[in-house]
Amino acid sequence: MTEFDINHFIQSNDTTAAQKIIHSALAAFDNIAISFSGAEDVVLIDMAVKAKKNVQVFSLDTGRLPPETYQFLETVRKHYNLPIHILSPDKEELDKFTHEKGLFSFFEDGHKQCCGIRKVAPLRKKLLSLDAWITGQRKDQSHGTRNQLNIVEEDTTFSKDDSTLYKFNPLADWSSEDVWNYIKMFDVPYNPLHQKGFISIGCEPCTRAVLPNQHEREGRWWWEETEHKECGLHIGNLIPTKSS
Ligand code: SF4
Repeated sequence: MTEFDINHFIQSNDTTAAQKIIHSALAAFDNIAISFSGAEDVVLIDMAVKAKKNVQVFSLDTGRLPPETYQFLETVRKHYNLPIHILSPDKEELDKFTHEKGLFSFFEDGHKQCCGIRKVAPLRKKLLSLDAWITGQRKDQSHGTRNQLNIVEEDTTFSKDDSTLYKFNPLADWSSEDVWNYIKMFDVPYNPLHQKGFISIGCEPCTRAVLPNQHEREGRWWWEETEHKECGLHIGNLIPTKSS
């Protein structure tokens, strides 16, 4: 691969042209994968398979996902005839954690430790094997933590010591409405929880439906302060990075 020029990529792409951004990202990197959360970021998969047949997709199975999300992962796998690499937490680390603190410690001392074991550690391990990854992050998903999101950035959180990991956020400038227009227009499968008032979908104990006009992030870790509502997968949103 020739060296990736991040500034050139940003300047030569319309930030709202998500499909073209995905095409360009897949063309620039062979060893690139989509991170699929089991929610409306399914649009990334739909766009990617239209660009390239053998797209790498992975998903984090925290062990605490709602049944609807597990079923949805299977629906997507079959719909696109696409393998999804399911990442699981380290068994020993998880056993030790649940033995010491039980299954709901996040309600008492915050979600950081549980997310660290169930999400961040498996993700870190996966990203060590990649040159780039694609996420469904959007600016409008947060009350501030994602405002500075670029369509591509150097992932200083998960980069290896000797090489840069690039993170593409093709939906950065899309609104929730844009996403749902795409889902309807192209008949894309979606998680049935969206029909029950869930907007942002994560683990079952830490996600709840929101009321009309409530921000989607209010359905996640509702017992914590807004500025802490990142699970660690995108910690660069909280800590200034080299590229932002
Ligand atoms: S979202 Fe909740 S259950 Fe899931 S890993 Fe984080 S703290 Fe644990």
